[in-house]
Amino acid sequence: MQSDLIRGLRGIVGSRHVLTDPAGTRRYRKGYRYGEGAAIAVVRPGSLVELWRVAKLSVAADVTLIPQAANTGLTGGSGPSGEYPGGVVIVSMLRMSGVHLIDHGRQVVCLPGATLFELEAALRPLGREPHSVIGSSCIGASVMGGICNNSGGSLVRRGPAFTQLALYAALSADGELRLINHLGIRLGNDPEAMLDRVERGDFAPEDIIHDDNRWASDRAYGDHVRAIDHPAPARFNADPRCLFEASGSAGKVILLAVRLDSFPKDETTATFYVGTNDPDQLTNIRRDILGGFRTLPVAGEYIHRNAFDLADRYGKDMVVAIEQLGTDRLPRLFAAKARADSIAVRLGAADASDRAMQAISRLLPNHLPIRMRDFRDRFEHHLILKVAGDGIEEARAYLRGCFPTPDGDAFECTAKEAAKAFLHRFAVAGAAVRYRAVHPDRVQEIIALDIALPRNTRDWFETLPTEIDRAFLHKIYYGHFFCHVLHQDYILARGHDPLAIEHALWRLLDERGAEYPAEHNVGHLYRAKPALVAHYSTLDPRNQFNPGIGQTARRRFWAE
Ligand SMILES: Cc1cc2nc3c(=O)[nH]c(=O)nc-3n(C[C@H](O)[C@H](O)[C@H](O)COP(=O)(O)OP(=O)(O)OC[C@H]3O[C@@H](n4cnc5c(N)ncnc54)[C@H](O)[C@@H]3O)c2cc1C
Repeated sequence: MQSDLIRGLRGIVGSRHVLTDPAGTRRYRKGYRYGEGAAIAVVRPGSLVELWRVAKLSVAADVTLIPQAANTGLTGGSGPSGEYPGGVVIVSMLRMSGVHLIDHGRQVVCLPGATLFELEAALRPLGREPHSVIGSSCIGASVMGGICNNSGGSLVRRGPAFTQLALYAALSADGELRLINHLGIRLGNDPEAMLDRVERGDFAPEDIIHDDNRWASDRAYGDHVRAIDHPAPARFNADPRCLFEASGSAGKVILLAVRLDSFPKDETTATFYVGTNDPDQLTNIRRDILGGFRTLPVAGEYIHRNAFDLADRYGKDMVVAIEQLGTDRLPRLFAAKARADSIAVRLGAADASDRAMQAISRLLPNHLPIRMRDFRDRFEHHLILKVAGDGIEEARAYLRGCFPTPDGDAFECTAKEAAKAFLHRFAVAGAAVRYRAVHPDRVQEIIALDIALPRNTRDWFETLPTEIDRAFLHKIYYGHFFCHVLHQDYILARGHDPLAIEHALWRLLDERGAEYPAEHNVGHLYRAKPALVAHYSTLDPRNQFNPGIGQTARRRFWAE
């Protein structure tokens, strides 16, 4: 039976694009930071029509389908983990890139393989930019992966990736795959002709419907994040306000095209680097700026000294690679690294590429500006504050009034320092993974928590009970401070029970009213909360697409 399916898939996409060898499929079956499982095949359709046919054939063969974009998710949500009914076919979207600008670039229609980088490049000549700037933008994260995960990122004004305008294939309880056109573009009625048209951008301005009630971004987020006395977090994956069809769908439908707002690029920006030994100083800055500034900041990224140090040591080559190669070449570097790892695994040398890159990075000269290093020595807590337009003078005057104090200080970055500061901050996300690869003998597990604190939280910096604290080799705190979204990665020493410790951490977070995950989505790491389970089961009543996500049921029709 499986051989019939493979033959059928090859007939649709060509033999080169149906991978079955475990070494060749490894990079699709293994998560960036978490998760690995088996798959019958990885299929890489080259067009939306091929994708539609692949989905139909796989549904008819009653196998489990897992849609995958760039596979940069941090919780294993775009790959297999454990057993699945009928076995798994992973559908990789990356060959189907493409962006169509509509309404003079004020909106865009993106295809499944379009990356944030590609979108940024398409909008740049128009002086506009995409909704999202996330840490993984520079390693090839897709636009659609972001929509499916309600990904967040560093932009304070825009909130999670979100749209109510999408073209997608959903599977009904009776097993019929239906094409649902909620893109707000008239494309006709024949599924394959519709898909072909949207892929080619074959629609005229009069085909585009402008309905003010259908949002192509989270328009209300600016006011929402300013509500600093509200007891609910600003954004989190189980927040019903951002679950809508494709948005937050986590692979429970096959997403074929999305329509999104773009945003005018800020003409002038400034970045300030703040350091303090008193977390309350950052609390006040957050509350004063969100509550009192006329202009919302662009970004406010937090990084703790330990995170600074780990990224300095284990993320240096990433920063240098981005600087030297440019963002456009980085996805190819990662693909080459994955291929090298597949070969190394066959030779019994897992993580060889990480260890080689770490050895090279030790030979590289200092890559961080002197003023950042000085702040690292003087201060435990760091905030990188980026502001634009009228917000620049507002921030300059405000920070001049706040600093220096005995506990803290701030400086305005040069353009070079600003770029370094943000790159360094983004390198933190991969530092724990590299640490584990280089020190497998010391590390039991990485517990990576992605949390959203209530907007009214003042005690945002965690203090752990000693019996939990002493289990960790390192605690890495960083995040999107103004949204109160924090990433807390704990490197657990050998000999400790990761599950027990993680659950103890969850209990502490529950006591603080936190929601989790905030923006990395449940994947296979977190249990989906009721709002998410309801969203998933409405989208996929047969439970044939990405089942088991959020530790939900894996069997057809959600049978436990
Ligand atoms: C270094 C680093 C930094 C990161 N920084 C951030 C950050 O700042 N903020 C943040 O929110 N996240 C961040 N992430 C997490 C991750 O990059 C995001 O979740 C990203 O949006 C995932 O995009 P992707 O293209 O890799 O999607 P994948 O990981 O491939 O997929 C994500 C989900 O979308 C589904 N999916 C993808 N395409 C389709 C499709 N066409 N149809 C149906 N389902 C589909 C998958 O099934 C999966 O459930 C970071 C990751 C890394 C490695």
